[in-house]
Amino acid sequence: MAVKVETITSVCGGSGTPSSRAILHPALHLHTQQVEVVVHLGELRTGVSCRYVCPMPDSDAIHFGEMVIALVDSGRKSATYKLATLLALIDVVTAKTRIDDPSPSIVSGREVGRRVIELYWPQTADYRGHPLRQSAQNDIPAKLARWRQIHGLEPEASLEDARRAKPDEWLQLEADLVGIVIGMPLAKLQRFGDGRHAAEERFIYQFGWRDEVKPKTVARADFDDSLILQPRVGKWLVQLAPLLRPLVQTKWAALVARQNQDVVDIHQLDEFLFGATRISLDRVRAPLVEAQHGRCFYCRLPMRAAEVDHFLPWSRYPDNTLDNLVAAHRTCNGAKSASIAALEHLEAWCERFHEGAVEQIATDTGWPRRRDRSIGATTATYVGLPNHTRLWLRGQEYERVESKRIQGCLQTLT
Ligand SMILES: [Zn+2]
Repeated sequence: MAVKVETITSVCGGSGTPSSRAILHPALHLHTQQVEVVVHLGELRTGVSCRYVCPMPDSDAIHFGEMVIALVDSGRKSATYKLATLLALIDVVTAKTRIDDPSPSIVSGREVGRRVIELYWPQTADYRGHPLRQSAQNDIPAKLARWRQIHGLEPEASLEDARRAKPDEWLQLEADLVGIVIGMPLAKLQRFGDGRHAAEERFIYQFGWRDEVKPKTVARADFDDSLILQPRVGKWLVQLAPLLRPLVQTKWAALVARQNQDVVDIHQLDEFLFGATRISLDRVRAPLVEAQHGRCFYCRLPMRAAEVDHFLPWSRYPDNTLDNLVAAHRTCNGAKSASIAALEHLEAWCERFHEGAVEQIATDTGWPRRRDRSIGATTATYVGLPNHTRLWLRGQEYERVESKRIQGCLQTLT
């Protein structure tokens, strides 16, 4: 029986039988009676059909968050791939946010793959003499660890250093790893459970390729790597990122600890896997100080010794590229800690894009710059702030959010 559906709040492409769907998270019981409902996504760009109405009718961000947590919890024995891919997806969606497009609807699978590589990279340095085991196949982290070894890269080497070691071969490796991410974790991310009992619910995104598609196919220019986000999912991922990130990282660290019981000190592991201190920022400290005319980015007073601070806190969005780095007093950096900077600092940060100083540092030092991504992540963070949020001004002083000022400032970057 085919039913015409007038309003679709969310649609999935689940191919499991209704009975297999009923064993999922309690939230998924909702539409198990609606067997054989055929929905044509005529209004969406995909043009594909799917068999069942999605199990998220009038859901909200919290409901969506519960489903994501259920998803993360459902694959107990699986590798860290799923977690890395979920974090990478959140990051890519966050970085695509613009003041005039607060809820991206399509993101690139290849972009997610490259972000997965970026997340794994610092974790592949030796930990007490050996790379950590992360999965049974150990493909992506193991290949990155091997690259480090072959090219004699220091533990604090950045991804840019890795690329510079052998640019052509790196491109091949990157294409191979991106292909793995697209064929495996991205294709399988939305499965609840493991192995043959797993059931798929495409409640986050749709995509047009088969599982286990080969890296060779992904590398072809005509391969469509689009992930079409379900309605409102882009917005929810950005809103929930500050809550989901620590949850996913805790789960990730626990999986790694379990697979490396012989070597792991659980207290140090979290910093090793996700900490901001793994990559040395020394090379850009002096140029940043010079570009700021020897003054602290936050209090504008002269500096004798400076530290490099992540303008957008690392715990919000890990970004070591140049636009997210500023030089500041140790005391100012310490007082700001993981807070979000006040509006006058945001204005100074936006102003810097018009001055060209950062571009000069990038040219002089070769330090990577991802202008659009940094703008996207900062936009996503500030635009999503609830009205009462306190922003760090100086010392122990905070101020409240003023959305008009935020809009005005970020508008200059579009
Ligand atoms: Zn200062």
